[in-house]
Amino acid sequence: MESGGSIGLEIGKLIVGDGEVIEDAYVGVDDGVIAEVSGDGFEASYDEVLDLGDRFVMPGLIDAHVHIKYTGVPDPVEYSDEYLAVRGVELARRALMVGCTSLADAGAVRNVAFAARNAINNGATLGPRLFVSGEMITMAGGRSRVPGARLEVNGPHEARRATRSLLMYHNADFIKLGATGAISSLHTGPTHAQLTVEEMTACVEEAHNCGKMVHAHCYGERGISNAIEARADVIVHGQSLTDEHIATMLERGMMLMPTLKTYWCHYEKWLESGVPERTVTSGIWDLTESNFRRALEAGIPFSMGTDSGMTDNFFGDNPRDLQYMVRWGATPMQAVVAGTLDAARSISVDDRLGTVEAGKLADLLVLREDPAEDITAVQTSLERIMLNGRFIT
Ligand SMILES: [Zn+2]
Repeated sequence: MESGGSIGLEIGKLIVGDGEVIEDAYVGVDDGVIAEVSGDGFEASYDEVLDLGDRFVMPGLIDAHVHIKYTGVPDPVEYSDEYLAVRGVELARRALMVGCTSLADAGAVRNVAFAARNAINNGATLGPRLFVSGEMITMAGGRSRVPGARLEVNGPHEARRATRSLLMYHNADFIKLGATGAISSLHTGPTHAQLTVEEMTACVEEAHNCGKMVHAHCYGERGISNAIEARADVIVHGQSLTDEHIATMLERGMMLMPTLKTYWCHYEKWLESGVPERTVTSGIWDLTESNFRRALEAGIPFSMGTDSGMTDNFFGDNPRDLQYMVRWGATPMQAVVAGTLDAARSISVDDRLGTVEAGKLADLLVLREDPAEDITAVQTSLERIMLNGRFIT
C-alpha cells in the first residue's frame, strides 16, 4: 500500500475507538503511521495541517466477517478463480468506500481471497486492508453447499495438517472452523454439530502457535460447547448461548461476532417475498435478537462482521451492522468500539489497528456528525476516508 508524506489534523472531536473521546484533538500522521495524538497541540511539524475543527474523526471500520467470493446474488455459472479474485477486489472496494478500511474474509474459495489480499496489500491495486482465513475448515461435506469452498478434514491429524497448510503456505491471518451446519447446509440443519472437539483443538493449537485467532461458525448448544471446549477465540453467529457458555466466554475473554446484518437481510427478504420465514432462515432469525441482547447484557465483547457476500447480503452498506447492534440495545459508542477496537482484536491486529493512537496505522474516517451520538452518522455523514495515511476521498 502506498503512503508517504506527513499531515497534521486539528480535530473537533476524536473518537479514539476504545470508548474514549478527545475534544479538540491533534493527530499527526507521518508516512502512513499515526505519529502523535494529543489534546494540546502538535509536537512535530507537518507538510500540511488540515482544519477539521467542526468535524468528527474515528478509526476506519473493520468488517471482520465478509466473503469476497460472493456478490450477494448466487453466480449463474462457475467462474474462474482469476475472475473471482478481480471481482473480489471490486467488492472489497465497495466496502472501503463506505468506511471499511479493513475487511476480514472468513471463508474463501481456494486461493481467491489470498490473491486479492496480496494484490491490495502489496499496492498493486487499491482496496481495504484484507485479512484472510482462506478456505473454511469443515468435516466432509460440512457447512457449505458450494464445492471447493472448504477444506475438508476428518480426524485431528487432517485438521492439524489443513491448519498448518493455511498458515504456512498462505500466511492465513486467522482460521475459520465449521463447528456446526449452516442455514445453507444441504443435508443437515444449522444446529447440528460438525467438527469434533479433538479436530478443532488441533486447529486451535496450530493457530495459537502462530499468534492467530480462530473463529468458529456455530449455531446451537452442542456446537458452541464444542468450540468453547476446543478454545476457539471468537464465536461467529452464536445462536443460542447458554448461561454456561456466557460464563465461560466472559472468564476467558472470548468474543461474539453476531453478524446481525446477514439476518436482517434474510428477514427483509422474507418480508418482501412471502416465503415462509423458516425456509429462509431455518428458524435462526427467531433466536437472533434475544441472543444478542443476552450477550450484550452479560458484557461479552462483540465485533462487527456483516457476512456480506452471502445471498441477499451485499457489499456497500456494511455499516448497517452497527445500526442493528444499536437497535437491539447497544449504545452508539459500543457499536463504534465493535466496529473498531474489538473488530481489530477479533483478528489480533489491535497492535496496529482499531484505535487512533501513536504508532498505529493511519486509517481514519472524517464525519460531519457524531457517530457516538447517532450511529447512522457513519453512513449519512461520511466525508473523507484516510487509508494508510493518505486521503483516498
Ligand atoms: Zn460467513
